[in-house]
Amino acid sequence: MDTTGAADLLRDKEQSLVDELAAVTRPQGDAGSISFGKRIGEGTSLAVDRLTSVTVQEGLLATLAQVRLALAKVEDGTYGTCEVCGRPIGEERLEVRPWAVRCLADS
Ligand SMILES: [Zn+2]
Repeated sequence: MDTTGAADLLRDKEQSLVDELAAVTRPQGDAGSISFGKRIGEGTSLAVDRLTSVTVQEGLLATLAQVRLALAKVEDGTYGTCEVCGRPIGEERLEVRPWAVRCLADS
């Protein structure tokens, strides 16, 4: 299997995840001016936004961990094999999800 292309894909994905995380976790420095002058009740939607971004952040972190694990597997030559059963993950699955580290049955 050609893992050079996979490594490039994974590094691109890693970078975009890091960028997204930075955007999600950026301190809301202007939060005070956003809520200023708004009606009571807007605080609720702000809280919901906050909750959503935490969920998004958790999803991004989980994917980032997988991407880095997959990159480590490229380096030690085990990329493309399931970390649980050791069987090939399958090219179709890797095409959709290049950072997959488990086969469909073990995911
Ligand atoms: Zn497996």
